[in-house]
Amino acid sequence: AKHAGRGTYRYYTEALTQAAQSRLQLDGRLRRALERGEFELWYQPLYRLADRHLIGLEALVRLNQPGLPPIGPAEFIPLMEDSGLIVELGTWVTREACRQALAWLDEGLDCGRIAVNLSAAEMRRGQTLARLSQALDDSGLPAARLELEITESGLMEHIDAVEPVLRQMREMGVRLAIDDFGTGYSSLARLRRLPVGKLKIDRSFIADLGGETDPQGAQLVSAMIAMGRGLGLSVLAEGIETEVQARQLIALGCEAGQGYLFGRPAPAAVARQWLSPLPEN
Ligand code: C2E
Ligand code: CA
Ligand code: CA
Ligand code: CA
Repeated sequence: AKHAGRGTYRYYTEALTQAAQSRLQLDGRLRRALERGEFELWYQPLYRLADRHLIGLEALVRLNQPGLPPIGPAEFIPLMEDSGLIVELGTWVTREACRQALAWLDEGLDCGRIAVNLSAAEMRRGQTLARLSQALDDSGLPAARLELEITESGLMEHIDAVEPVLRQMREMGVRLAIDDFGTGYSSLARLRRLPVGKLKIDRSFIADLGGETDPQGAQLVSAMIAMGRGLGLSVLAEGIETEVQARQLIALGCEAGQGYLFGRPAPAAVARQWLSPLPEN
């Protein structure tokens, strides 16, 4: 038993060392990618459901380096949150999204609102407000064109630090949305007080729609939509993949949506083709 125990111990140590090493390697790769400007923003369209009018684009970060396997944000964002690198990444993402949105507007193309994901870990590290107003000033993008998405779980976990920052962002004219709504246990009282204008219902709930198998799934989505509307918020459903889901969401009173049914995230040059001319005035 003693022998087996020691073997097990060694096995775990080696596994841990390997995990720590590959984290370190990834961390180095991420730092270099930032220095070299190798991150890229892709954009996914957001639509008003009733008439499929484009209301905005969500910027989603990608890392695809030559000669290396591409890695997705779900793999590198948590690591960057731990190491603090998220601050530099977030700064770059915000600046690049503002720059791109203004470039489209200057071309006479209507990109609606540009939505940027903001990590709560990034906000806790401070100076977020200063960097945000700098990004807006430098780009010249009107603040009302920018929407920041903060996940419900990140928000609620750090609510005391984050709430005052959100308030100041709202005062700057930036719009705020709660991302992955339904997964993070907000209290109604809290939601009512927060300066947010939009709820994005997490795609796990939308995946339950459209089958006869789960009538309770539809009830839950219906309740979330009613609650959002009751609070005067606009409600967007994430992860819409089928026409049946889209129709059901319209019937439930959901205003806006996003998902593979309408368009996958794509590079700026592709997203540009989705835009229509700015209305003349
Ligand atoms: P999210 O903010 O919830 O973004 C939506 C994710 O769902 C995206 O994954 C998108 O590609 C995917 N998606 C969109 N429509 C569908 C659909 O119909 N079906 C399915 N199965 N998936 C769909 P992505 O791009 O891999 O991003 C994952 C997460 O990484 C994001 O989730 C967000 O939390 C985070 N993230 C992405 N870019 C950034 C960023 O610039 N900054 C920060 N802090 N986080 C980011
Ligand atoms: Ca998001
Ligand atoms: Ca989301
Ligand atoms: Ca998510």
